[in-house]
Amino acid sequence: MTVSLKTLLDRSERNMGSGINVVVKDKALELIKRAYDEGIYVQISDGFRSHKEQNALYAKGRSTGGNIVTNARGGQSYHNFGLAVDYFLVSDDGNKAIWDVNKDWRRVAAIGKSLGFEWGGDWSSFKDYPHLQMTGGLSLSQLRAGKKPNLNSDEKERHVAEGKIAYIQSKLNDRYGYHLSVDNIPGPNTRKALVKAYQTELNKQFNAGLKVDGVWGPKTKAESVVVKKGAEGNLTWVLQALLRCEGYDLGVDGIFGNETEETVEDFQNDVGIAVDGRPGPVTFGKLLD
Ligand SMILES: [Zn+2]
Repeated sequence: MTVSLKTLLDRSERNMGSGINVVVKDKALELIKRAYDEGIYVQISDGFRSHKEQNALYAKGRSTGGNIVTNARGGQSYHNFGLAVDYFLVSDDGNKAIWDVNKDWRRVAAIGKSLGFEWGGDWSSFKDYPHLQMTGGLSLSQLRAGKKPNLNSDEKERHVAEGKIAYIQSKLNDRYGYHLSVDNIPGPNTRKALVKAYQTELNKQFNAGLKVDGVWGPKTKAESVVVKKGAEGNLTWVLQALLRCEGYDLGVDGIFGNETEETVEDFQNDVGIAVDGRPGPVTFGKLLD
């Protein structure tokens, strides 16, 4: 019997580990699906690796037995930051691993590249055929210094293709368990859901103790916080979603960068309040009321 897609996805998801970057994980799962559609069965053997695990791997063929499998010590591999995966082919029944770098293997690499991965088989010094990584434009030393990659650029494109408001509605349904119709129209129900999301996040993150009723009132205003550039998370996401519902064009990715700041300033200017790019009670009031 042919191995099911679900089996390949489940095994791979487990092997990637919980430290894998979510965008990298989604792309790796997408890779498995696309290959499966072409009759190529592929699985991920490895994703996130701690520094300790990386050092143990580095020892292979050096201080311990076997062949050398990597030139990277802990902190020297994109695996250590959850940004790389390794793949291999499996037999039709899913029971046997195939490590031949054959036509199918190269096809998987090509699909991976079309999804935004860099393939280790293209490297000139040390060819790492199972290896796929996304760097987000960051070097390992930048990652070691704590920089976080932004891998959301294709996600932004997808939002546009799928409908800018529909994306927000379906995300609100997923994240908060709402039952909004995904009609791509920023109507009163969507706005009310965003107020509820805002109240929920204030309760969760700041113990605001608000009633989650979807109504912007004095209590919600009093508990409002100032969201600033550099912020990341659901509160920033709600802010971006609200701006998009007001017709502003910006990425809704939960990361408060330059684009979000500029959009906030545009909005503040347009509604005639103080322009500081730091939305607090007054700005949220204009967005939520
Ligand atoms: Zn690798």
